[in-house]
Amino acid sequence: MKLLEAPLPVQTQPDYPGHTLLTPGPTPIHPRALKALTRPMLGHMDEEVFKVNSAIQADLRQMYGTAPEAFTALLAGTGSLGMEAGFANLVEPGDEVLVCANGSFGRRMAEMAARYGAQVRLVTAPLGEAIKAQDVADHLGSARMVAVVHGETSTGVLNPVPEIAELVRGSGALLTVDAVTTAGMEPFEMERWGVDYAYTGAQKCLSAPPGLAPIAVSERAFVRYAARRTPTPLWYCDFAGLRDYWTDHTYHHTVPVNLHFAFEEALRAALEEGLPERKERVRWMGQAILSALEPLGFSPYVANEADRLPTVLALRLPEGLDDAGIRAELRRREISITGGLGPTAGLIWRLGLMGEAARPAPYRILMAALEDILGTPGLLRRFEAALEAGLPE
Ligand code: PLP
Repeated sequence: MKLLEAPLPVQTQPDYPGHTLLTPGPTPIHPRALKALTRPMLGHMDEEVFKVNSAIQADLRQMYGTAPEAFTALLAGTGSLGMEAGFANLVEPGDEVLVCANGSFGRRMAEMAARYGAQVRLVTAPLGEAIKAQDVADHLGSARMVAVVHGETSTGVLNPVPEIAELVRGSGALLTVDAVTTAGMEPFEMERWGVDYAYTGAQKCLSAPPGLAPIAVSERAFVRYAARRTPTPLWYCDFAGLRDYWTDHTYHHTVPVNLHFAFEEALRAALEEGLPERKERVRWMGQAILSALEPLGFSPYVANEADRLPTVLALRLPEGLDDAGIRAELRRREISITGGLGPTAGLIWRLGLMGEAARPAPYRILMAALEDILGTPGLLRRFEAALEAGLPE
């Protein structure tokens, strides 16, 4: 016990020079992606780029668990563009859209759907709680689309997408899922669950540079798109225009080729590691962090364990902890973590466990710094012991 509480010297991590980025996105760029960024530039209509794009499309089908021929692509923008493209292509003025809104990103979906002329209805849940699938079923009415955020980053809540999908299936409504904090790290089975449109951001679970939104579109969604009475108001992301480039290899707009190079490597690295292995890595890291911090008075913000989003660890702060002061001191030491948003500001920390952030090395740096700042010997040692005890097989 004495030994466990002995302070350890701050370790320097040769693998992680520079900044320690532990926010809920962006995440540290994967070394393979970083290297690929320096590849000589090619034209967006070059045969080699089309080959890279096809490999990305195939890998995205695997990541999202789509039907074999589902359309996948990268949009030249961040996760929010993925969100917007779904409403722009699949909603027409007057359509009823049922949005699950239990945090900031659910509310963003509702705002976007309204801007594309939808009649928006909301299903909500108290902050820190998941949406109940039965509430969605009870409010379906004649909705043409149901939209839900899988992992609500603002509160660290995982919404029950498979259960919601099961109740929406057969209703005639399309199902749009925000997979920004889940796809590539948590199970995502688009075809099996019955999801029609999914998107994420390259800078989250895949640890690629920001600026790309990987999307997947079901055949059913394309049928809805083809029956539009009015053209898609967002020309840049019109599904037909995207297909011109990604499927037919004709010019639509100039894609950011260097970001595609980096993304291809980051996604390949994720699939080579294995999606179940990545999920296990996140669980392992989350448990070790919690074991290390709980004795200091930190506790999970999301009360129901099944509702916790593994990739964003939301921790309630101990009474009297100087949230802003400690995060500022961490930042001075080149370590970034994130506090709460809106009603949870000052109440919680949100620790990112996506992609390359979910590794022992950067969290050792955080634990050592916290041990020093808080004057709590044994924190890093406790973290090491918990890592050792929970080591994935
Ligand atoms: N949806 C969720 C769940 C998110 O966490 C975020 C960003 O944090 C977004 C959408 C928006 O993505 P971006 O900031 O890449 O536009």
